[in-house]
Amino acid sequence: DKLFSGFSKTRDNLAVIDELLLYWNLADTDRVLDELEEALLVSDFGPKITIKIVESLREDIVAGKLKSGSEIKEALKKNVLDLLTIEGKTELQLGYRKPAVVMIVGVNGGGKTTSLGKLAYRLKNEGAKVLMAAGDTFRAAAGDQLEIWAERTGCEIVMAEKEKAKAATVISQAVKRGKEQGYDIVLCDTSGRLHTNYSLMEELIACKKAAGKVMPGAPNEILQVLDGTTGLNMLPQAREFNEIVGITGLILTKLDGSARGGCVVSVVNELGIPVKFVGVGESVEDLQPFDAEAFVNAIFS
Ligand code: GDP
Repeated sequence: DKLFSGFSKTRDNLAVIDELLLYWNLADTDRVLDELEEALLVSDFGPKITIKIVESLREDIVAGKLKSGSEIKEALKKNVLDLLTIEGKTELQLGYRKPAVVMIVGVNGGGKTTSLGKLAYRLKNEGAKVLMAAGDTFRAAAGDQLEIWAERTGCEIVMAEKEKAKAATVISQAVKRGKEQGYDIVLCDTSGRLHTNYSLMEELIACKKAAGKVMPGAPNEILQVLDGTTGLNMLPQAREFNEIVGITGLILTKLDGSARGGCVVSVVNELGIPVKFVGVGESVEDLQPFDAEAFVNAIFS
């Protein structure tokens, strides 16, 4: 499957220890763990998590708990799975009031609009009445791009009424319409130009407030889209968005390409935010709910 093929590079990196494990004996421990450390670092696990994993394995080997190469491999996989398993629901939490509001945030180019479109398709197939809000009012083409996704998925869309409309206004109008016309879910696109020259963060806070003013408790979810090919660079970005707007879940995109698998583990573990979906391509069906076990099986052969 696409996730599996997207992680072929990570899998190759990590496979270097397989042969060592095959002939492992206690005297080999340092050499195997050094190779593993190297492989984890190359795969973007980051130094903190790499050390955590390697030292935990070393401890268990020294304590005699792991007695063969295959036991070490299983312990390694279990370690990674545990690091990915954090508190917090991996399913969307949409509450019971209609419409539920989901805001999609992230820097430009990460796959926000595409992910919103794919999510709309998914939710619609599950029977939900979905409304889109073109909240990226800064980039003129962004609205048009979302409109294409609305057509593709057969969803209605609320666009800015005039040029340079405020994002919060569009979102407020969309949530109002969602409420009046019995929509189940309003999916809000937002702007993602980098915050250095203007306050994207202030705009996102305004969008969040605008949604909450129309629907108390909204947004139900604020999902941050992160580009899986950027590796550990996604960490400071994710941290900043989370500190300011409060992220409830992650969508990791482009995992079909040359994703560096370790950063998925890093971002989950360092931020304590669950991955809710992964993007594995550019078509409507290429958004999958995150499955930690499938992920572990895709990065270890
Ligand atoms: P935005 O600026 O954050 O809204 O990003 P877009 O949704 O416009 O996506 C940027 C580019 O990444 C587009 O060319 C998308 O087709 C592509 N893209 C988005 N998600 C994925 C994915 O999961 N896999 C691949 N291969 N490409 C993706």
